[in-house]
Amino acid sequence: NLANRTSTKISDISWEAGKPVPYAALCKTFEKIEATTKRLEIQEHLTTFFVQVIELSPDNLLESLYLCLNRICPEYENLELGIGESLLIKAIAEATGRKTSKVKEELAKWGDLGKVAKDSKSTQPTLVKPKPLTIPALFSKMKSIANTSGQDSQERKVRDIMFLLTACQGDEAKYLIRSLEGKLRIGLAEQTVLISLAQSIVLKDPGYQKLSKTLKAEELTTAAEIVKSVYSELPSYDIIVPTLLKIGVKGLREACKLTPGIPIKPMLAHPTKSITEALDRVEGKTFTCEFKYDGERGQIHMLEDGTSKMYSRNLEDSSMKFPDVLEILSSIVKPGTKSFVLDCEVVAWDPVKNCLLPFQILSTRKRKDVKESEIKVCVCLYAFDLLYLNGESLLQKHLAERREHLYNAFQEVEGKFSFARHMNASNVEEIQTFLDESVKGSCEGLMVKILDGPESSYEPSKRSRNWLKIKKDYISGGVGDSLDLVVVGAYLGRGKRTSVYGTFLLACYDPDNEEYQTICKIGTGFSDASLETHFKFLKEHEIPGPKKYYNYDKGTNPDVWFEPCQVWEVKTADLSISPIYKAALGKIDPSKGVSLRFPRFIQIREDKKPEDATTNDQVADMYRSQFKNEE
Ligand code: ATP
Repeated sequence: NLANRTSTKISDISWEAGKPVPYAALCKTFEKIEATTKRLEIQEHLTTFFVQVIELSPDNLLESLYLCLNRICPEYENLELGIGESLLIKAIAEATGRKTSKVKEELAKWGDLGKVAKDSKSTQPTLVKPKPLTIPALFSKMKSIANTSGQDSQERKVRDIMFLLTACQGDEAKYLIRSLEGKLRIGLAEQTVLISLAQSIVLKDPGYQKLSKTLKAEELTTAAEIVKSVYSELPSYDIIVPTLLKIGVKGLREACKLTPGIPIKPMLAHPTKSITEALDRVEGKTFTCEFKYDGERGQIHMLEDGTSKMYSRNLEDSSMKFPDVLEILSSIVKPGTKSFVLDCEVVAWDPVKNCLLPFQILSTRKRKDVKESEIKVCVCLYAFDLLYLNGESLLQKHLAERREHLYNAFQEVEGKFSFARHMNASNVEEIQTFLDESVKGSCEGLMVKILDGPESSYEPSKRSRNWLKIKKDYISGGVGDSLDLVVVGAYLGRGKRTSVYGTFLLACYDPDNEEYQTICKIGTGFSDASLETHFKFLKEHEIPGPKKYYNYDKGTNPDVWFEPCQVWEVKTADLSISPIYKAALGKIDPSKGVSLRFPRFIQIREDKKPEDATTNDQVADMYRSQFKNEE
């Protein structure tokens, strides 16, 4: 569609070139996006809006994009909106002259504070028409609200929100409140935003209009691929957007590269369910086996100026959680190692017995503001990759070379820093022995990685078939891995479980259609205490009905629905075709989905967001893998 354009289409709301973008223009786009579930339509609406911004007010593109993502800065800056509900209720009541009890009543009825704000405003007589809200004004106010702390911070936040609400017209109040809550949820995924960003830059390129229809389509696809891949290497819109505006898509890869201080999206592994399956997959290639340590992923960055940072799998800054890790860096670098990005696993360590401890122990460690003197759970770092060294990105280098750099630039310190144990095995017996050793050493199993050749380069954010995981627990289980699923609903408990939810409805994620597809009910694996915890947490996330981006069958209707808010790790005996569950719909059977048999709850995955849940494609792969390589 977009490739057919001869001129840049303008959306319903326009503004004078050079003036700030009116918030109304963005809200109109949100409305259109919310009204459809079709991905291409969503894409088109957003691209149209971005094109218009680039044409009239390019300086506002970055802020517009952040508002679409419901963020105010890069994820790794750990600054979030998420204003509490009670504060927003207070601001809505005060700004619209309603009683807080009335606002609460309406909220209980509609389950969407944004809608309540909009309705409250529409019943309020306005004497003077307020000055329209603009994107830069709104964005800077939101940033300042998120940064407000200390004495009177609540009052100051309420005042700022009231100020914004007063200036809102029509749907603006709805989207403003949802954004402040951190729950915009209009069905707009980050991948769509990235594609629209790329497309809008290309559409505004003067050379583009001269291309043939086929070349136009190719140009748009290539641009989307480039922007997505650059973003996984350097996930900072603060850098990417101004660069795109300045030099376009073509030079982007050269201009925006992995930079210490900005976390890279980690490479992910593909599950296998047996040593022979892994060996089949790497046949004819040079590969290496490594222990798969059982902790949490840590990406450690050291800048030339000596500053160091640590980031989680989710790209959050975890430096405050692991000050002890950053403290040891000076003792593990060899002379000459000045700047680097290390990929590691942080594992709990017993300093008395000098051995590794399981993940459950690590998960008891405090999450924030850890003081070194109060640390109860010690950790040891296991480094398995080096992505950047002394001013040079190593991403394109082969793993064998990256490993050599790793060994040359760092030294082991017992109980603090080690290289991941590896073995360049070649047959099943050797690998089995190495796997047994890893399990004895409290590891989860093995990673099998391609060692040489272009396939062994580091692939940011990809679940790559060049990294295979073999987990001890799943070897004879037939499935290969656990699943990470989103809780979308619950059924009220019976018998002993009457005061809590007894069973839950889970879903996987389909990133192409941006929807959650139901996969099973789950009622096993919970202790009484964990049911209480789930109830307390999920109660706060109940919504009156399913989201439009939930794909489910009426036959599985739960008693209560939740917004997508938590990811659970779940084990299953096997996967089967199902007429009522929607996971991987159309991937295995044209009209049926896949569901889990005998699912069991393992733990909450705090480090995963709902969009990081197991995807429909992964579910389909797991289903198929049950019938392959039967041992
Ligand atoms: P996902 O594959 O979705 O990330 P996950 O977070 O549950 O799932 P795992 O299934 O445990 O991750 O497998 C990959 C993870 O294993 C890595 O993200 C990393 O944290 C950990 N890991 C431990 N040892 C290694 C190693 N030697 N090489 C790479 N990753 C390792």
